[in-house]
Amino acid sequence: MEHQAGSGQDTIREPARDTPVFRDCDVLVVGGGPAGAAAAASAARLGADTILLERYGHLGGMATGGFCLWIDRMSDWTGRQVIGGFANDVLDRMPPEALLGPESQVWGSDDPQLVAYWKERTAAFNGVVTWSPTIDAEMLKIAHQDEVLARGASLVLHGWAVATVQEGNEVKGIVFESKSGRQAILAKVVIDTTGDGDIFALAGARWESDIVEDDIHHRMNVAFLWSGVDMDRYREFKESDPDGYREVMEQARKAGPTARPDPMPRNDQALFMGPRFAGYSSLSVEDLTAVEIKSRRVMMDMIAFYRGNVPGFADAYVSGTAPQMGTRHSRRLIGAATMTADDWKAGRVFDDEIGLSPPPTPRHPNVSVPYGTLVPQGIENLLAAGRLLSCDPVTHTFMREVPNCWQMGQAAGVAAAQSIATGVRVQGVDIAALQQELAKQDVPMHSTVGDAEPFVAAEPISAGAESTNWQGRWE
Ligand SMILES: Cc1cc2nc3c(=O)[nH]c(=O)nc-3n(C[C@H](O)[C@H](O)[C@H](O)COP(=O)(O)OP(=O)(O)OC[C@H]3O[C@@H](n4cnc5c(N)ncnc54)[C@H](O)[C@@H]3O)c2cc1C
Repeated sequence: MEHQAGSGQDTIREPARDTPVFRDCDVLVVGGGPAGAAAAASAARLGADTILLERYGHLGGMATGGFCLWIDRMSDWTGRQVIGGFANDVLDRMPPEALLGPESQVWGSDDPQLVAYWKERTAAFNGVVTWSPTIDAEMLKIAHQDEVLARGASLVLHGWAVATVQEGNEVKGIVFESKSGRQAILAKVVIDTTGDGDIFALAGARWESDIVEDDIHHRMNVAFLWSGVDMDRYREFKESDPDGYREVMEQARKAGPTARPDPMPRNDQALFMGPRFAGYSSLSVEDLTAVEIKSRRVMMDMIAFYRGNVPGFADAYVSGTAPQMGTRHSRRLIGAATMTADDWKAGRVFDDEIGLSPPPTPRHPNVSVPYGTLVPQGIENLLAAGRLLSCDPVTHTFMREVPNCWQMGQAAGVAAAQSIATGVRVQGVDIAALQQELAKQDVPMHSTVGDAEPFVAAEPISAGAESTNWQGRWE
């Protein structure tokens, strides 16, 4: 290998080489997070020969390996389920003791007792009980894996996609690195579900990435789990002594970066999806390293404080730090369509709707998600789904949540399989047939759920601390 020093970036020149083709398939899904698992399962269930490639050894992405274990809302403010399909398939596989969330009969309830109970368990907001369970990471890895394999997709784990195989603007597959060396997978359609848009960036698609340093969705962190805690004791302290609670949390804040615990299905575990750090990029290896180091140091300071000061935490110990870096946002596709706040605030329903999102606040109707938001411009045989979708920053705040990523992945998987079956490019798939299949797979849409009814919040809708001016909660 030749080293080329000189002006600008120091480089080495690698020799050209022949790369073995590992497999050929119909649909290749790159990235086994929520979007990728849903895409692979949904393409395979339509008979497409499907491979799911993932750089780590498990599925679920940020929702398992990133310890983002609170699955955000899948019901609207009246309690109707607006995200289903793959979400149901995977959550139905969870053992009951691995899931903390309300029964469907109480979704939408404004009963004060139920609301008070579920508010402390991240399943009631704005005075309404919501379908937003917290799950055990290991069981969700297994649920994703079982669902993907049961639908007939095959898995390639521990493989990191590093290049696209392309003829001009036509994507023909990818090259990946693994312990077996550098190999290629060829495919009729590739779906980028890497979260970071690695594949569409390599393919030359247009994308954007804006950093708003003080906004939550640009912050990174390693999430962690503590065991040996007593969350009932913690909640009892919070309820019975609100002034004492406020005081101790203020002391924690003064002591350094801190976060509050979230409940887990088990009383002896607590989840921390922060503290979050601004000013870092998940596309920089130096920043990724810095956030790993900083997160662990801060966690050790935090656990010392919690053990000494917070009821319920005297015997806390670190039982896990997330193996995947907590990244909320990096590249966003500039797709054939872009979801914007103006559209969903106005209640726009798209002709190419592929699913719904609960609106971020009760002030707004259910949000229509268009197919075009997954389709790159000017690049053939490629779709993109998940937190890398084409949208504005405000819309990203809720569209990047786990249920939305499941839903976008499902639509991309169905579209890819239909494109291959009909011989039509992904941009031109028959939208009515796509919607029909998604409905068959229990994906709620405006045509099945109806429009959101006007909703009057039982509690005042206050400004959210974290992001824009909505309440609820964004992680
Ligand atoms: C700290 C934090 C807390 C959060 N909390 C919540 C929450 O409470 N509730 C909620 O609903 N959402 C939450 N989110 C958001 C949510 O977890 C993510 O936005 C969501 O998981 C994104 O899903 P995805 O499939 O698009 O991407 P990811 O989950 O990021 O999955 C992408 C997958 O692709 C793989 N991959 C990446 N690059 C390559 C490559 N080149 N080759 C092969 N594989 C690759 C990755 O290993 C990963 O498994 C949180 C996010 C963070 C960071």
